[in-house]
Amino acid sequence: MYSTDHLDIPPLVSAGGTVQLPGSKSISNRVLLLAALSTGHTDITDLLDSDDTQVMLQALSTLGCRVEQRPDGVVRVHGLGGNLPVKTAALFLGNAGTAMRPLTAALAVLACQHGGRFDLSGVARMHERPIGDLVDALRQLGCPITYTLNEGYPPLCLGTGEPTELSIDDAPIQIRGDVSSQFLTALLLALPLAARSRDIHIDVVGELISRPYIEITLNLMRRFGIDVKRDEWKRFTIAAGSQYRSPGRIPVEGDASSASYFIALGAIAPCSPGCDGITIKGVGLASIQGDIRFIEAARLMGADISGDDSALHIRRGAWPLKAIDLDCNHIPDAAMTLAVMALYADGPSTLRNIASWRVKETDRIVAMATECRKLGAMVEEGPDFIRITPPATPSAWSSASIHTYDDHRVAMCFSLAAFNPAGLPVRIEDPKCVGKTFPDYFETLFEVCQTPPANIPVICIDGPTASGKGTLAAALARRLGYHLLDSGALYRLVGLAAERAGLATDDAALRSQDQTDRLGELASSMQVRFTGEHILLDGEDVTEALRSEAAGMAASRVSAVPQVRSALLGLQHDFRKLPGLVADGRDMGTVVFPDAALKVFLTASAGQRALRRHKQLISKGFAVSIDDLLADLIRRDERDSSRSHAPLKSAEDALQLDNSGLSIEQSIEQMLIWWQDKTAFSKV
Ligand code: C5P
Repeated sequence: MYSTDHLDIPPLVSAGGTVQLPGSKSISNRVLLLAALSTGHTDITDLLDSDDTQVMLQALSTLGCRVEQRPDGVVRVHGLGGNLPVKTAALFLGNAGTAMRPLTAALAVLACQHGGRFDLSGVARMHERPIGDLVDALRQLGCPITYTLNEGYPPLCLGTGEPTELSIDDAPIQIRGDVSSQFLTALLLALPLAARSRDIHIDVVGELISRPYIEITLNLMRRFGIDVKRDEWKRFTIAAGSQYRSPGRIPVEGDASSASYFIALGAIAPCSPGCDGITIKGVGLASIQGDIRFIEAARLMGADISGDDSALHIRRGAWPLKAIDLDCNHIPDAAMTLAVMALYADGPSTLRNIASWRVKETDRIVAMATECRKLGAMVEEGPDFIRITPPATPSAWSSASIHTYDDHRVAMCFSLAAFNPAGLPVRIEDPKCVGKTFPDYFETLFEVCQTPPANIPVICIDGPTASGKGTLAAALARRLGYHLLDSGALYRLVGLAAERAGLATDDAALRSQDQTDRLGELASSMQVRFTGEHILLDGEDVTEALRSEAAGMAASRVSAVPQVRSALLGLQHDFRKLPGLVADGRDMGTVVFPDAALKVFLTASAGQRALRRHKQLISKGFAVSIDDLLADLIRRDERDSSRSHAPLKSAEDALQLDNSGLSIEQSIEQMLIWWQDKTAFSKV
């Protein structure tokens, strides 16, 4: 997951490949609650691991429900079977509507039956999301509920701590259906707990929105042993004597709403060479999730979609996409993706019947309108619709820094604006908000998107040994969410591999053409893998071995060999991957990435560098003298600067940074200021 302040997505030009979707949020949180309320244990496979499911898991464990993470990835929930081991608790539910609403209903009922008392709260936005209709329905059952802050909104206090008789008679419980379908879902999930001796009827008041979500609820309740009787979309009946029973094992489908971004990607992006569109695994045409009907909308816009029960395949069909005028009530979440597809359409598109957008993670109508306008679209918005007129020409597109309102869907759908015909990058602010449902969204996107290397930004930091390049480059890469190339490590690897292969690297050996050819061959055939912080050579973790002074000296010697340098060139270019690269070394700006957008030559006085290296080695338990280190440093600098091939020197267009008197943090800040100036966003 990118936890950077923002993520700059370079202009993208094509896409192709296979995407495995994470589990559905709606199914995951319903299944977790159902499993907790059931008798017996439930093994859940493919459960989504995200902010919202963590919130639910945490709440369940606070309530005394045992949840086991098994080694095979299965999550085993030991059902409470209608019991309530913890009778008083304060639950913080973040911004997870799929936790707040169902837990409110279930705990309100359980609090009455067992004499419990529960305080439910969330983040500030959760306290702005209405819950009054659900509370009104639960009060009809006799559940004592108080609003602790504002009437109609969380936080809530459920129960009094004393058992309370539920008032169940033949009169149906009335619930409004036109604000959020989650109220009805919550009630449906909770009421089997109360239907002991009488049937319970629920009547929906007003038009029921987002019906597909109710279908998911009914479908899952059926798997846990409860068959709800449904008369039209007006009345639901839960039979007397209902009791949740674990199905034993239940898989979670991939998230159909998350699929919408990749369906849209397939519809927007030309196929990358050698690929045949986008394949999505984890969700198929037979999905129980309503958002699967996004497919119909995407087809209307021109997408070419096929699939089976567990996979979808998408190719670009009509281009430009066809403008639509569509009632989106049945796909409220996925419809946001249509708004971004509309930017690529042949005329204005209108998405109707989307009033529920206003009470989601943010007011999504305002959010989508504001951000589409930033990109150059004309947008009209009403209480329950949005009309988007795409930028008239490529030059009418603008570089935009997309504000994401702590709303995962805003972040995900605007990533698709990176296919704009103007070739502009797109900045996504606070990209970690995708953690709500799809923590690895951007990584997954970058896996299947392509753009020419020239579009992928590179920041080069060159400089002498121990100038702090490595630390600075790693910190900068982390701050920007970019890949990192520690090119010194590659030369160190060659040194180490040579030593292990018994190839001499002393000055005499390096004068022999045969020997230098062999070193070149070794460099091009090394089996190297970079995994996070670790470097593997032929499958062995050599991270520590590479940092030794001996490895540095060996690197310095083999790096003067032209065959080694050219063997490593391709390997270094391979690091230039989406969304960007920070590369450190000696010749990053001069030889390897001469077109880099920002080049910095980092220096520090020799004394200062020797001191830093000394500190570093001492902390690792190596006993060395500063004087020896200083002499070594000077020798290495001299060798690196005087070699005929790619000597250490500043690129002509590099900015100079002497960090002798700067802290790491100050150096990073300076780099970020320089970098911001080079991006398209310095002007927005
Ligand atoms: O930066 P580090 O100390 O890990 O680099 C080890 C050695 O590899 C350097 O002393 C230098 O001789 C060589 N090197 C190089 N070109 C690079 C990076 C490192 O020649 N781009």
